[in-house]
Amino acid sequence: MFAGEVEFLKGVVAMNGLPPADRAEVCFAGRSNVGKSSLINALTGRKGIARTSNTPGRTQEINYFTVGTDHYVVDVPGYGFANAPVAVVEKWQNLLKNYLSGRPTLRRVFVLIDSRHGPKKVDEEIMTLLDKAAVTFQVVMTKTDKVRKTHLEESLAVTRKVLQKHPAAYPELILTSSEKGEGISTLRAIIANID
Ligand code: GDP
Repeated sequence: MFAGEVEFLKGVVAMNGLPPADRAEVCFAGRSNVGKSSLINALTGRKGIARTSNTPGRTQEINYFTVGTDHYVVDVPGYGFANAPVAVVEKWQNLLKNYLSGRPTLRRVFVLIDSRHGPKKVDEEIMTLLDKAAVTFQVVMTKTDKVRKTHLEESLAVTRKVLQKHPAAYPELILTSSEKGEGISTLRAIIANID
């Protein structure tokens, strides 16, 4: 699956713009700059299909991609970004909350965490929201190539501890580097098995 079959479907700015809930979908969420666009590009084998957060335009939208006819892959804008006007942030947070808690076909949210930094407060807030909505989530550690092994082990331990507090969390972490290709095929296989 994936390479060659992924197409950008649409950018959504309000709940009533979501495509029909007619197939399983998975979503990628994470703080701004966590490496989400790079990961989606690596996963799909389509450089540039998910634009980086510096690209104006798509940043405030929930972006839908079709993967063949089986799944939607959904890219929500990075949260925790600085410098955006309060009104914009609030509007966006509401949309994110409504989407994450109100989409019946959302099977799993991949919450991306930077291997260098571990989970931040805003990540835990999203996790709590997902607990309440009973939406399963799984943590994807990004940029593993950027940390030394001992630091990575520490980050993983901290992250696992945080996950114990969250009933909607999958205990298993996925370690990835879009730069080196680590974990990409594992993540593809996980998505392919979700139905
Ligand atoms: P987004 O804001 O979450 O979409 O993050 P981007 O994908 O735009 O990545 C943010 C920055 O981190 C960019 O400079 C990327 O080149 C870099 N980056 C992303 N993934 C990796 C990775 O796996 N390894 C390394 N070394 N850098 C990465």
